[in-house]
Amino acid sequence: ENTQQSMSFQTEVKQLLHLMIHSLYSNKEIFMRELVSNASDACDKLRFQSLKDDSLMAENSDLRIRISVDKEANTIAIEDTGIGMTRDEVVQNLGTIARSGTADFLKNLTGDERKDSQLIGQFGVGFYSSFIVAKAVDVYTRKAGHAAEEGVHWHSEGEGEFTIDDAILPQRGTKIVLHLKAEESEFADDWRLKSLVKKYSDHISVPVQMLEEKFAAPEEGEEEAKPQEPTWENVNSAKALWTRSRSDVKDEEYQELYRHISHDYGDALTWSHNKVEGKLDYTSLLYIPKKAPYDLWNRERVRGLKLYVNRVFIMDDVEQFLPMYLRFVKGIVDSNDLPLNVSREILQNDSTIESIKSALVKRVLDMLEKLAKKKPEEYQEFWQEFGQVLKEGPAEDMANKEKVAGLLRFATSHSGEAKQDVALVDYIERMKEGQDKIYYVCADSHQTAKNSPHLEVFRKKGIEVLLLSDRIDEWLMSYLQEFDGKSFVDVARGGLDLGDIESEEEKQAQEKANDEHKDLIGKMKTLFAEEVADVRMTHRLVESPACIVVGDDDMGAQMRRIMEAAGQ
Ligand code: ADP
Ligand code: MG
Repeated sequence: ENTQQSMSFQTEVKQLLHLMIHSLYSNKEIFMRELVSNASDACDKLRFQSLKDDSLMAENSDLRIRISVDKEANTIAIEDTGIGMTRDEVVQNLGTIARSGTADFLKNLTGDERKDSQLIGQFGVGFYSSFIVAKAVDVYTRKAGHAAEEGVHWHSEGEGEFTIDDAILPQRGTKIVLHLKAEESEFADDWRLKSLVKKYSDHISVPVQMLEEKFAAPEEGEEEAKPQEPTWENVNSAKALWTRSRSDVKDEEYQELYRHISHDYGDALTWSHNKVEGKLDYTSLLYIPKKAPYDLWNRERVRGLKLYVNRVFIMDDVEQFLPMYLRFVKGIVDSNDLPLNVSREILQNDSTIESIKSALVKRVLDMLEKLAKKKPEEYQEFWQEFGQVLKEGPAEDMANKEKVAGLLRFATSHSGEAKQDVALVDYIERMKEGQDKIYYVCADSHQTAKNSPHLEVFRKKGIEVLLLSDRIDEWLMSYLQEFDGKSFVDVARGGLDLGDIESEEEKQAQEKANDEHKDLIGKMKTLFAEEVADVRMTHRLVESPACIVVGDDDMGAQMRRIMEAAGQ
């Protein structure tokens, strides 16, 4: 019986392959990272499943990854003793793109090669990156718990087709053989591969081994050391990085783990690594990325932290650990309190998770505060990328409203620049004597905000006003209300009270003017009875003759537009 089958890659896979081969040539070596990372995931999965079914590991309890080179054949092999795949799984995983993230990614492609290669950099390219350096790839795999005869052999030249065949495999797990292109033979080199493992995969918690040649000490009468059978030696440190103490971990190692868990090719901006003992017992390692992912605004995108229990990987994308407005944070939580068989459903209603969550939120906010204080330029970079997301905070997280408010940055009339770089504490520092409010104006664009006639009186008195023009701003302000005991005041609201900034004389002059022009005001009220609710004399304007304001309790103009757009 001929069990060999020829199949076609899904169209998206063909697209991805083409793009990868043509845009990642400057960073070819990442294929090693992807393959070792998959092998490590496979070991993690088996370790996890064997908690429920220990027969899965019966034949061999060793979890490890081995890398070998055949210089003559110009091949590299990466072999793991992980979970392996069934025939159906091979077709599914190595023939299609099942992950929604990938499909999403492909939708975002522009066709501009330079832009697309940056995009690909934000995204885990995975198994298919083998074809950057290989002209053909063989995969031999056998699922844990299945018989040797149930092995599978997959082969492809990356052109659009692959074949799949039965194979007898004595060992559980997966072996991937790359037949290197002639011009990529530099990778068929032990020393080169070893340095790549060190560089990209040192943090991996299963041992990654390579053959090492050994020499016996020369015996008496002999000149030279005798070569012995090479032995498998560990190349990586194989200790979960977060279990080590902070002082033992180099920045480069933290960055490498970041790239592994985030699928980001860039660096993290900063991180926070903490061991918590006592009532709760867990370790957390939280990263702030430097660059926002392309799908930051897709609310359905996968997000969240990786969960480990006692160093055993449990699941990805646990969104219960952080609120939506901190969705850009990447990292891991390793808990000693949760049961190993914990499920997403359990996580949703677990009080331990709630406590961890509030502690993690505090950590992230503290980390950002520290960054803002110690490295304001880097904080500004962060704000550029994620400020809009952080603005969702006051509405979502009442408990930390004040803390989040302290992290916000605004454009103001002080510089008049569109750049959002003024903190509320800076504003308060510059407040005029007698001023006890924080003033702001909302508009559709920075330019409109800046030129608003409502600002005239503030300019005259030298009072700074926050210039808000992001879509989310008015909504944000409806939740903020006050900061450091000072309330926020929309300068476009009806009864603008300037408090003690206004002198007694000014107040009296205002009343007098209202009195003197009673008739005119009365006429105007009748004339515009349909259009406006009230007409008043004002001291707000210096140059403009008149302006329209919003009632104190009415919806702001920007908010009204949002509601209208939503069909309300
Ligand atoms: P990702 O790792 O992000 O899921 P990849 O393209 O790297 O994407 O891999 C696709 C899928 O192929 C994996 O999710 C996994 O199911 C399967 N796979 C790849 N390599 C291995 C391996 N060494 N052992 C078992 N399964 C693997
Ligand atoms: Mg992968």
